[in-house]
Amino acid sequence: MTFENLNIIAPITQALKQKGYEEPTPIQEKAIPHLLKGSDVFGTAQTGTGKTAAFAIPILQKLYAGQADRKTAGIRALVLAPTRELAIQISESFTDYSKGLKLRHMVIYGGVSQNPQTATLRKGIDILIATPGRLLDLMNQGFVRLDSVEFFILDEADRMLDMGFAPDIKRIIAKLPARRQTGFFTATIPNEIRALADSLLHNPVMIHVAPLSAPAESVNQSVYYVEKADKRAMLQQVFESEEIETALIFTRTKHGADKVTRELIKIGISAVAIHGNKSQMARQKALQGFKNRTIKVLVATDIASRGIDVDKLSHVINFELPEVPETYVHRIGRTARAGESGTAISFCAAEERGSLKDINKLLPQSIEVKRMPGFIASQPSAAVEVEEKPRRPFGQGRPTQRPSAQNRPARPTTAGSNPFHRKRW
Ligand code: AMP
Repeated sequence: MTFENLNIIAPITQALKQKGYEEPTPIQEKAIPHLLKGSDVFGTAQTGTGKTAAFAIPILQKLYAGQADRKTAGIRALVLAPTRELAIQISESFTDYSKGLKLRHMVIYGGVSQNPQTATLRKGIDILIATPGRLLDLMNQGFVRLDSVEFFILDEADRMLDMGFAPDIKRIIAKLPARRQTGFFTATIPNEIRALADSLLHNPVMIHVAPLSAPAESVNQSVYYVEKADKRAMLQQVFESEEIETALIFTRTKHGADKVTRELIKIGISAVAIHGNKSQMARQKALQGFKNRTIKVLVATDIASRGIDVDKLSHVINFELPEVPETYVHRIGRTARAGESGTAISFCAAEERGSLKDINKLLPQSIEVKRMPGFIASQPSAAVEVEEKPRRPFGQGRPTQRPSAQNRPARPTTAGSNPFHRKRW
């Protein structure tokens, strides 16, 4: 399959070639024809699957085709995204794909002065990419009208609801024309999402891509058992023994992210922590530094990491394992994007063995356990060993200590959210 087979016009296919896209990803192959035909689309897909291009390409192509007979100077396509980072990335994708099309797009988000944004809006734009809060602000002040919107995309809808944007989204939707085409993208489908989709979409085509298992297959995964107190020393050893080009390191807390960052800097590795306590400026600067390779390592919490999109991330390191097993799959999906291969290394302390067990249950194959020379970790108890999958090479030596189930941190229940059990469209 090629982009030409999908009837994408030459200026766009050329731009895609320049970006190095050789063929459409599954979500692009599935969604583009329907969006070009004019259907609404309900897509379950995550960042990392190529979903931005799946909606950006048809929007650009249709707006380009309709340019001659456009009746108003208003905004023709609206893309809503939950965070500034994601909105900026989407805007950058539009910039990349629209070279030579003479369509104007812009991105608006909060936390920065609105004046440059309103100045650009006044000049007139075709495509607006926005976070809900700032959009609503500017709508209320009369800077944005949505009555000429022909295409509406709600991206990462589940995350938007999770962040408390439901009331804002509803107010925005109320101002959209009824006659429009809508694309709705979400990674998970809790009940509120289903209800929101039902209220927004008209006879939608359902598209599902299985992103959660897909990245894992091309990711070389391993786990090291390590005492909690030895993790920082082990991290240093990983940096000494592995060819690490760029790494995203996950910690459970913001404080932990700061601590790991300081340790890395101490041993001469350029690292920045990225989390909710950092200012918008600091986060943008960190991401930019990471993209242009002046920063080698980002240390992030799960929430902060979701918007991070970097091509060819060589390593993901789980300094701490997540308590929700699906999060592991999301994390490692940050490496090995779009056909590349990548490495995911996890550290597992005694008190995280329960989390590891849950993660292994979710995966088609247990993560390979490796040993780091010079590090000895306590082994799990015999009872737990029996429950584990047979392939696991635990073995030598008897356990020293393992915290009882009551002493382990409580894990949120994930019943019903196993991506491998989820109904496919
Ligand atoms: P997204 O899921 O939209 O965030 O895209 C994930 C990554 O895949 C981005 O870095 C895109 O530049 C890249 N990408 C999207 N489509 C393709 C494609 N057809 N071929 C290669 N890379 C792609």
